[in-house]
Amino acid sequence: MRRLWESTLLPWVFLFLGVAFSLFIAWKSALWIKETEQIRFQAASNHISSLIQKELRAHIQLLRSAAAFMNASDDVSREEWKHYALSNHINEQFLGFRAFGYAPLIQPHNRLKHEESVREEGFSHYTVFQINASSNSALFPVTYIEPLSELNEKAFGLDLASEGIRKEALYQSLMRADATLSSKIDLLQKYITDHQAGFLIFFPLYQSREIPSSEEERLKDVKGVVYVAIDSKKMFEQLLQSNYILVDFEIYDGTVPLAQNLLYNSNPDLIEPRLSQYTSLEIYGKTWTIHFKAKDVLEMSNSHYFPWFRMIFGLLLFSLLSGLIYVLQHTRKKAYAIADEKTKLLAQSEAEIRSIFQTMQEGVVVLNDQGIVAECNLAAQEMLKVAKSDIVGKVGSDTKWNAVHEDGSVFDIEERPSFKAFHTGVAQNNVIMGIRREDGSLLWVQTNAQPIFSDDFDKITSVLITFSDITAYRKSKHELEKYLQIIDTHVITSSTDLKGIITDVSEAFCKISGYTKEELIGKSHNIVRYPDMPITLYQEMWSTLKKGISWSGEIKNRRKDGSVYWMETIIEPRYNEEYYLVGYTAIRHDITDKKRVEELSITDRLTGLYNRLKLDELFAYYLSIAKRHQTPLSILLLDIDKFKSVNDTYGHQVGDSVLQEIAKLLKANVRLEDAVGRWGGEEFLILLPSSNVEEAHLLAEKLRAVIEGEDFAYAGSRTASFGVATYHLNDDETSMVARVDESLYRAKENGRNRVEVEVYACNLPSS
Ligand code: GH3
Ligand code: MG
Ligand code: MG
Repeated sequence: MRRLWESTLLPWVFLFLGVAFSLFIAWKSALWIKETEQIRFQAASNHISSLIQKELRAHIQLLRSAAAFMNASDDVSREEWKHYALSNHINEQFLGFRAFGYAPLIQPHNRLKHEESVREEGFSHYTVFQINASSNSALFPVTYIEPLSELNEKAFGLDLASEGIRKEALYQSLMRADATLSSKIDLLQKYITDHQAGFLIFFPLYQSREIPSSEEERLKDVKGVVYVAIDSKKMFEQLLQSNYILVDFEIYDGTVPLAQNLLYNSNPDLIEPRLSQYTSLEIYGKTWTIHFKAKDVLEMSNSHYFPWFRMIFGLLLFSLLSGLIYVLQHTRKKAYAIADEKTKLLAQSEAEIRSIFQTMQEGVVVLNDQGIVAECNLAAQEMLKVAKSDIVGKVGSDTKWNAVHEDGSVFDIEERPSFKAFHTGVAQNNVIMGIRREDGSLLWVQTNAQPIFSDDFDKITSVLITFSDITAYRKSKHELEKYLQIIDTHVITSSTDLKGIITDVSEAFCKISGYTKEELIGKSHNIVRYPDMPITLYQEMWSTLKKGISWSGEIKNRRKDGSVYWMETIIEPRYNEEYYLVGYTAIRHDITDKKRVEELSITDRLTGLYNRLKLDELFAYYLSIAKRHQTPLSILLLDIDKFKSVNDTYGHQVGDSVLQEIAKLLKANVRLEDAVGRWGGEEFLILLPSSNVEEAHLLAEKLRAVIEGEDFAYAGSRTASFGVATYHLNDDETSMVARVDESLYRAKENGRNRVEVEVYACNLPSS
């Protein structure tokens, strides 16, 4: 059944059957209509024939009674004839009635006598006239004629036997002794040119009361004729008017429908009738041929369209039905195709989702509306180290695993994200749980639980739990934190923004600087800067960093308590993820101890001044600068006068303290860049970079005066002698020391407590 319904032929079969059925119905209807038409046409035709016969019979009845009236007496007067005609209402009673007359037989020799007698009646102009003159035959002049109208006057006196058609019918009637119709004639008109088709009906009058039996005897016994003249057009029109006639007709005189014999045509315009038939009407010695014609379907004028209507209606109906079936089939087919396509796509996407579900790295567990595990993917099984059958079908809370928080406390059932999602309808995200597997190992997961609602959102149909294994991440994070802790504790680091404002410091930084994090963050590193660190060091550091280059160097810092510590520092520019320079990070190393050792190796123990080793190093360094940049360099060498006596007089310790005091005086009275060192015993060398000989001389004088003015403990007033030398081209350490030595010698020689400038210098033009 379904196959039939789906068959593509079905609409066509339906259409074919529909067309055949419509055509059959139309054909049957047409047939039926044709038959009906034919029957009605026949009936209408018969009706007309009978009407004509009936009318003619009425005329003949009139003639018959008129003949009886004439036979009743030998001499019927004109007045009596008129009265008879009037009493019969000839004008009103008889259709097409034109004239009602009497024509007696007059032998040619009685013609004049006859005319005479009529004239005597008052018709002075009466004369018997003939249409075709014939000399010898009997005359039938129209003697009485009613109504004697102007029109009928024309026929008054006409010899009815003087014209062929009239004569033939007249004699026929006489011979047959019965009413006889003439053939078609042109009725006599007022004007000769007018033609009015008509016919006459004769009825014979005999002399004898008994009608002679043979034609011969009848002709001998003739008295005359009574007749009616009928205007055929008028008669048939009136006949048609007084009767409801459905068909048109043509009446021909004779057996053949010839145009010249046409008595009447009810509708000359109707040339091609739909239905037509010829009927012969035998009537009182004449044969008329009636041509019946029906233009339309006899008052069913629309009926012959009926089959067409039916057919068109049927065709339309079946076409519509077939179309409808086609459309229905097509729609159904299309719907099946769409459904197939959708099913395919659905299956495809389901397969894709299933494959994603199975291959995704995240574990997925689906709980149904009862909280029972409905589905889980491979990742979930692997992470939890279970087989699918171990968990599917079980209530989530039935599993033997225990969950713990990050701090190790127990994760209650009510706290679990799946439970919360179920009971609150709110998605739970990024919940970290430690799950104790059956083998005892701990699995750390980050979990999400998403409630899935029914279509109308009125209940939760399932909960989708996804989780990722963060055990390794947690472990590495933990280790990282440990390392960071170590770094924070042991590595002195700080970070600043681009302006050098501290944004972060390590615990170690706080510890060595003596400041808390809160005290440091938001400040600059000036907070730990040692005042005597040369400003040039910081300038150089910043210019390097601003180029994006890391800087390293040794920086002397000051603690919150004022004490000193040394940092070997590496400062790195710091970039963000988009490689924009955002600040600097410094890693420092405590080198205070190293610096102390270093200081000791270059320091004279007694005085704290540079020792001979450091003086040599600095002397070489300053010399190289003076040579390269042609800058001045001068040196002072001083020796305490008569110091031996101090030792000798006050003891060695007093001598030492004098040495220490003088060291302090020297240090306090020279510039920062000047280097003061103990050259040996009670001799001191001072290196004066960027001082010429005059400046050096002045300084020497100043120092000499300061020492002279000092009151040393126990030792009282002491003096010192000074030698001054300055750098000359091609000088080296030895040559300069030689000259300053010589100057000092001269100062001693010249009385001590004085300054002597190198001799060499004296001979040179001052610079
Ligand atoms: P002059 O005016 O010629 O220089 O006489 P002077 O006594 O200073 O003679 P000289 O320079 O030869 O003697 C130096 C003395 O300084 C010798 C030594 O006893 C003393 N001396 C050297 N080093 C020290 C030291 O470290 N401590 C003490 N207390 N005395 C020293
Ligand atoms: Mg000496
Ligand atoms: Mg001395």
